[in-house]
Amino acid sequence: MSDASCDFGLIGLAVMGENLALNVESRGYKVAVYNRTTEKTDEFIRGRAAGKQFVGCHDLKRLVASLKRPRKVMMLIKAGPAVDAVIEELLPLMEPGDIIIDGGNTHYADTERRTKYVEEKGLLFVGSGVSGGEEGALKGPSLMPGGSEAAWPHIKEIFQAISAKVGPNEDIPCCEWVGPRGAGHYVKMVHNGIEYGDMQLICEAYFLLKHGLGLTNDELYDVFDQWNSGDLQSYLIEITRDIFSVKDDDGDGYLVDKILDVAGAKGTGKWMSQLALDLGVPSTLVTTAVYARGLSAAKEARVRASKVLTGPSGKTSEDRAKFIEQVREALYASKLCSYAQGFVQLQAASAEHDWDLNYGDCALLWRGGCIIRAQFLDRIKEAFDKDANLENLLLDPYFTEAVTKGQDGWRAVVKTAIDLGVPTPAFAGALAYYDGYRNARLPANLLQAQRDYFGAHTFQRIDKEGTFHAEWLQRR
Ligand code: NAP
Repeated sequence: MSDASCDFGLIGLAVMGENLALNVESRGYKVAVYNRTTEKTDEFIRGRAAGKQFVGCHDLKRLVASLKRPRKVMMLIKAGPAVDAVIEELLPLMEPGDIIIDGGNTHYADTERRTKYVEEKGLLFVGSGVSGGEEGALKGPSLMPGGSEAAWPHIKEIFQAISAKVGPNEDIPCCEWVGPRGAGHYVKMVHNGIEYGDMQLICEAYFLLKHGLGLTNDELYDVFDQWNSGDLQSYLIEITRDIFSVKDDDGDGYLVDKILDVAGAKGTGKWMSQLALDLGVPSTLVTTAVYARGLSAAKEARVRASKVLTGPSGKTSEDRAKFIEQVREALYASKLCSYAQGFVQLQAASAEHDWDLNYGDCALLWRGGCIIRAQFLDRIKEAFDKDANLENLLLDPYFTEAVTKGQDGWRAVVKTAIDLGVPTPAFAGALAYYDGYRNARLPANLLQAQRDYFGAHTFQRIDKEGTFHAEWLQRR
């Protein structure tokens, strides 16, 4: 029935779309759904949607006609050209003031472009980060909407109703307006990049405890369980703990030990890394994490190299409890550097694109529903609430104290990892970032001299204003 009675339209009934549609309906909204492959729509209407407030549509015309004005149509389809194609199909069917939403993992630059394009046609466009996977989509994702700000009052109620909630009364939505054009998708990308860093750091802690200390999976479970009740409390620590308890159905032992050590990636970490390079900001943790996945993927080459290249091995003689605590300190301090880098990148991107991002809100959006959800994001929100222009999280008193307290253990762990030949590029890289950032003087004076020597690139001096060039050979 095309009686314009639906509150929300959803295109794409794969994992994300199906679950998000059910989430929207469960909050009391009537939802029109469409999927390119018609059988999926019929299957959904007959199956999970049975008895619920859904209208299944076999074409976009019907979908649009089913919606109340201003119409809100959200795409949860494969990111890329498919989104452009569906926008082209929707434009002639919709009217000025109607809203097209892209909830996919879209590159922010595409959302910048599409917002301008759709606005030129008199419609409104929203590019929203949606985090939390299948379960989040169903029960409450973290939502990061950006785009045409005029759309926000129309979608706010539905978006905040379906999002994850945090706070003592579980009533603070993990969904706020992020900013113009591609801002929402950029924030989602940084979320994913931070997720890469968190996962790599946890994997390094695991590797050190397993190979450097010889902990069993049962012991690893206990360590992560303990960590999950302190500063490190987070979804990723919790699921890591649980992974160590899962036995292999297909044989003896634990499932984690049977999994091939080759990491996959969908590309959002790489995007963040590439954009950090474009902005000239050192987001070293995400980049290290992307490279670590790349090195893991070269499994056959590593197996060959392992038969030729030698290095130290063995276990640490350090006291067990002390070493576990040092690894915890290294993990927490490195994680703080990773988040500090993520927010520095957000600040640089916001300045470049004139987004006027609210960094405290960004931390709040990630507080629930998404993969990096963690209690300590409250600390980040507090830090930016105190000082909206905080230059670097590490300069907020809470974070300064945290890295100061943890740094002896952090340094000891990096030294031990080097002595044992256990690769910990993220722990070591985070420490190098910390040491670089806290040094008022770096060796770039020599670098500038080299550049001037071979390329007359000039340099500045510490004792007087101006730009200088030296005839290096003649001065010897
Ligand atoms: P997906 O596998 O990325 O995409 C499949 C969906 O896209 C299907 O509904 C498919 O329709 C539709 N589609 C593909 N090409 C199309 C075209 N040219 N025109 C119209 N529809 C087209 O689905 P997903 O995993 O549910 O993810 C949806 C979006 O959310 C993606 O951008 C994804 O990156 C993002 N995301 C996914 C997750 C996750 O955990 N899966 C988490 C956050 C965000 P047919 O059935 O006709 O093929």
